[in-house]
Amino acid sequence: MNQLNCQHCGGNVNIGDTNCPNCGIPLPKNLGKNPQKKFIIFFIGVVLFCLFMIWWLPPNWIESMGKN
Ligand SMILES: [Zn+2]
Repeated sequence: MNQLNCQHCGGNVNIGDTNCPNCGIPLPKNLGKNPQKKFIIFFIGVVLFCLFMIWWLPPNWIESMGKN
């Protein structure tokens, strides 16, 4: 499946086009690629960041912040 629809005008656009051939609107670069892949990578990054913060911060960091 190489044909996609322009989100602006609904016309057919090809994967790799930078602009819609019908209305000329710039097309997103990730058109035709799986957008969920980026989200999953972002989500894994957030989870790793949370795990790092849990490991890095002492268990009583809320109490220590209140004292300072
Ligand atoms: Zn269009």
